[in-house]
Amino acid sequence: MELQTKALHAGYEKGPEGTMAVPIYQTTAYEFRDTEHAANLFALKELGYIYTRLNNPTTDVFEKRFAELEGGEAALATSSGMSAIFFAIANSAEAGDNIICARQLYGGSLTQTAHTLKRFGIEARFFDVHAPEQIEALVDDKTKVIFFESLTNPSIDVADIEAITKIANKYGILTVVDNTVATPVLCRPFEFGADISVHSASKYTTGQGLAIGGVLVERKGLLEKLKANPRYAHFNEPDNSYHGLVYVDVPLPPFTLRARLSLLRDIGAVVSPFNSWLFIQGIETFTLRMREHSKNALLLSEFLESHPKVKKVNYPGLKSNSNYENAQKYFDGGACSGLLSFEVDSLEEATKIVDATELYSLVVNIGDSKSIITHPASTTHQQLSPSELIACGAPAGLIRISCGLESIIDLIADIKRALEA
Ligand code: PLP
Repeated sequence: MELQTKALHAGYEKGPEGTMAVPIYQTTAYEFRDTEHAANLFALKELGYIYTRLNNPTTDVFEKRFAELEGGEAALATSSGMSAIFFAIANSAEAGDNIICARQLYGGSLTQTAHTLKRFGIEARFFDVHAPEQIEALVDDKTKVIFFESLTNPSIDVADIEAITKIANKYGILTVVDNTVATPVLCRPFEFGADISVHSASKYTTGQGLAIGGVLVERKGLLEKLKANPRYAHFNEPDNSYHGLVYVDVPLPPFTLRARLSLLRDIGAVVSPFNSWLFIQGIETFTLRMREHSKNALLLSEFLESHPKVKKVNYPGLKSNSNYENAQKYFDGGACSGLLSFEVDSLEEATKIVDATELYSLVVNIGDSKSIITHPASTTHQQLSPSELIACGAPAGLIRISCGLESIIDLIADIKRALEA
């Protein structure tokens, strides 16, 4: 089935009512037929619904649909992108272990890995996403995850997914890819050897900035990598918190199964059924929107590149961009999503341009159908010194745009006016 068909149909079978829209099961709990039924559900002898912190019929459709789009075996929805990332790591590593992360990560992922997980006893070691060869020197027998973004936010780099997963596979280490910005419409990391993908569903999934949520997807056949792998004893030994269950012995996708039964149960960062329903509505137009976002972003980048006030434009779809080759390799048709940035001479000039735009909203978000403009040096990165700003790829004159779905004629006209004001 083609992606656009899956986006409309995957994971949903109509009930006797023939309901065209996926119903919202806005419920906390589910009645058992009798005590035997209840006992069977808890023992996994029968699959069904127990309590919405663990599973829910509306969320099921969202999970199945997202897994299909990504080309994975199963998915777990979570309350946010940050909790999906936390679950992917906490399902792999424990105190005393380490994870290897790309330096070019979303700010929240950097603080989670470098600071919060450190307090849980998990050490983060960093490599440059442009230099996967740095990874091997960081690996030891306590390394449990290699974590990176396929299309990085905010630096807008494209990871060489195959080069990274090849190194991970040499050591039997799990790779976790944040595929939020690229989306499964443009990039499917499992086709290039990745094991787990995570997403902030808060961005392009609804596409309208409607809800916070996340999703974690497991690739097909991950069982083989986990089975008897000494790095992942907790998948191969009885789980005392679940009456001795051995995850690799159950005929269900083991990574999402453990994340659900153990982490979602105990940490409880569950998505609401209503938000799952919003994500399902968004997914119906996912493929159409991502092509338009990419088309608009490329045209806007080309305009900016030709403007005398602009020093540099970062968009992987531009032939001048150092990520161009990776973008052609990893993104369908070389379409690169809606995120771009450009640099002008100074902080003063950048803030003047941002304030002069009318169509672009000054918001720290991405992936909305309405265009968004941000100036990292005065907002998300304001505590950094000028040299630190340059080192992390956000110099004082950098402006980031999440290109929306407005007419490109209006988007160019507004930025041109702001540049020349
Ligand atoms: N990953 C990326 C690439 C992001 O851009 C974000 C948020 O901006 C997140 C994860 C976190 O997602 P959420 O805000 O849904 O927790």
